[in-house]
Amino acid sequence: MKIRSRKFDGRCGRHKRYNPATDGRPATEGGCPRCHLLFEIWESSLKLNQLIRKFNPRHDDLKKLPPKVPAHDPRQLSLIGDGPL
Ligand SMILES: [Zn+2]
Repeated sequence: MKIRSRKFDGRCGRHKRYNPATDGRPATEGGCPRCHLLFEIWESSLKLNQLIRKFNPRHDDLKKLPPKVPAHDPRQLSLIGDGPL
């Protein structure tokens, strides 16, 4: 199942600056259906994150790639692996 790699870059054509994450729920009066849809998508993605964490508490969707560590520290003598077979 591959769902998390999707990056959604939706934007309302009329309210290009609207961002559900920071602006919250759009005004209901005279509400713009596109903005509402964006908000629902964002809200659903939060819910999806929660569900995934519930399913697998160890899942860390903020996990970054591990920092690059040199495979071999030249200051240390390697006792395993690198020697001639
Ligand atoms: Zn809008």
